[in-house]
Amino acid sequence: MELKCTDNLFSLNPEDVVTKRNLFDLIQFSKVQDSEYWSGDSNIINNTPQQGINWIGDLPDTKGVLIKTRPGSYKEDGWSDKNQSFYHYSFKARNNVISFKEKANQVLISQPQHLYPIFLFTESGDTWVYEGAFSVSTIEDTYVVLSRYLPNLIAEPTDEYNKQQYYEGSKSYVTHLMAERNGAIVKKVKQSREWICDICNSIFNDKYKVKHIEAHHKVPISTYSSQHKININDFSLLCPNCHKAVHIYMRKDGMEYDEIRRLLQRENT
Ligand SMILES: [Zn+2]
Ligand SMILES: [Zn+2]
Repeated sequence: MELKCTDNLFSLNPEDVVTKRNLFDLIQFSKVQDSEYWSGDSNIINNTPQQGINWIGDLPDTKGVLIKTRPGSYKEDGWSDKNQSFYHYSFKARNNVISFKEKANQVLISQPQHLYPIFLFTESGDTWVYEGAFSVSTIEDTYVVLSRYLPNLIAEPTDEYNKQQYYEGSKSYVTHLMAERNGAIVKKVKQSREWICDICNSIFNDKYKVKHIEAHHKVPISTYSSQHKININDFSLLCPNCHKAVHIYMRKDGMEYDEIRRLLQRENT
């Protein structure tokens, strides 16, 4: 398989093989106007040197991420199951310090907000073997877990998630969003309670004749850690308006759920 422009990455099939020379040239020359690999500003493949990770377009307009892994370069890196559905990929560190502000790490922790594909390549001699497109399913302190990209199973991100960039605290916020997208636990929460908004006490169905409620993960963002196991008691059920307002306050002022709830209830009495 020969890659002639950035878009070709989106039509690779698992087990396709590209030469290292070809991928190197595509990455380098996608940045060079008038080169044969140039296909516009939005198709520039960015990188920080020698990190094995590249991204197409800068956040929040990233279109995809390329990961090229060599066995043994980071100790966490590698498949975590026999079926090769999950791949552990380490955050990039400088002098053993991981910065989540580094673009190479930002494009990993922002993936659940934006849902662009992560193209995974593994090394084989002087070629790269394409393993498929992946999505970030878990964020740990030192690595992410990539799982095979199944666009149909991933909830559409809303505009709010798309347009924002989160620097300080972004890892915690993404963990929060992922908890709210955890279908199994959200289903349990919804089955276990009455569908009344925890803030305004409204019942969506009464007004709109449609059953609807949203689960909000109310664990204080400042206390997040990768050890935190999510639990149904960590969730409140909210109507869409209150849920939206809670997220706006969380982002803007870093307020915790109980505080926001008190504030909104006070406003409405
Ligand atoms: Zn409400
Ligand atoms: Zn929420």
